[in-house]
Amino acid sequence: MKNFFEENERALYTPESIFNRFDFEGGEIPGHALEKFVKAISLLPHDIIDYAINYCAFIGEISENSSYWDFDIGYLKGKNGIIILNSNLWSRKDICINFLIAHEMAHAINRDKHIFDSWGPEKRADRLAIKWLSKHYKKEDLLKQASYLKLKN
Ligand SMILES: [Zn+2]
Repeated sequence: MKNFFEENERALYTPESIFNRFDFEGGEIPGHALEKFVKAISLLPHDIIDYAINYCAFIGEISENSSYWDFDIGYLKGKNGIIILNSNLWSRKDICINFLIAHEMAHAINRDKHIFDSWGPEKRADRLAIKWLSKHYKKEDLLKQASYLKLKN
């Protein structure tokens, strides 16, 4: 009973409601990519969606070579991590976009540092992304996206 309201709130998670809960300053994710971005977030478990909204900053790169963003540093206040998404991502297949965002969210949840000295954190992130997306995709299709799991060590 104690989680009744919370559970109902969570049942209302749709790409639209998730979009409304993100405090985008404007321009962090290019306009043409917003729909795909929010859809990818909506496929994750609810507690991971909460974490993405409350503790992660997202930046969708606009150009391949160099970029400039004008945003208030307050956007980063209280965030635990920044996820930067490559501008080439948005033209890829949906499963690729969704897997990559799940993989980066796994790093965020694991509080991985930016530089790794082994493939361990990458493999862990791939495994978590497969677990989270297994409701939406066949495991064999997710495994094809999990490039780090194919590495020997
Ligand atoms: Zn990674």
